[in-house]
Amino acid sequence: MLEGYCVKCKAKKPISEAVEEVMKNGRKAVKGKCPTCEAVMFKILGGKATPAAASPAAEAAETSLDAAAPTGTGSTPA
Ligand SMILES: [Zn+2]
Repeated sequence: MLEGYCVKCKAKKPISEAVEEVMKNGRKAVKGKCPTCEAVMFKILGGKATPAAASPAAEAAETSLDAAAPTGTGSTPA
């Protein structure tokens, strides 16, 4: 069963009477109803899924590698 977010219940609900359809931009979506309040639910499939368990704490520390290139080429090959 697909889950969607009901804006009326402000909770995740299994989408009732889910019907899969393709939008104009080619993305798949599921249209259905909230089983509790019967509000229309719409869930976009495909694309980037953004789960609630996203951890923003993963900060990529920028390491500037200031590696000085050795320019010790004094001997010219004959
Ligand atoms: Zn609802």
